Amino acid sequence: MQDVLITGLRKKTPKKLAFVDQGKCFGRGCEFCIVVCPVKDCITLVPDPEPGAGATVCEVNIETCIGCTLCAQFCPPDYDAVHMFAYEEGVRLTQEMPRSYDYRSYNKRKGGALAS
Ligand code: SF4
Ligand code: SF4
Repeated sequence: MQDVLITGLRKKTPKKLAFVDQGKCFGRGCEFCIVVCPVKDCITLVPDPEPGAGATVCEVNIETCIGCTLCAQFCPPDYDAVHMFAYEEGVRLTQEMPRSYDYRSYNKRKGGALAS
């Protein structure tokens, strides 16, 4: 965990937001994104929405993310689960984050909607 974490309110709307494709995230035991994120509790572990998975995956708080890109840079290439999106797109993805396995399978495909 970083020594100095941002805990106050975000001063301006960021140009970009991080979004975790939970179909790719390894979750507990990886957590590089959580370690490098400079904002306290901005990325948290949540239950994996995949039915029966019983694991945890990461989720970004779009109210506090400052768009620094560190999480996307440090997510291991084998998982490649975090990507930066224009602010509006990041909000939309997060609000519409589907919890169905079908949608996540679609996103997991190489070249899927969240692959770039
Ligand atoms: S972009 Fe920066 S502030 Fe936002 S979740 Fe990633 S590391 Fe945290
Ligand atoms: S670094 Fe990537 S794979 Fe690892 S916990 Fe974070 S989002 Fe998941």
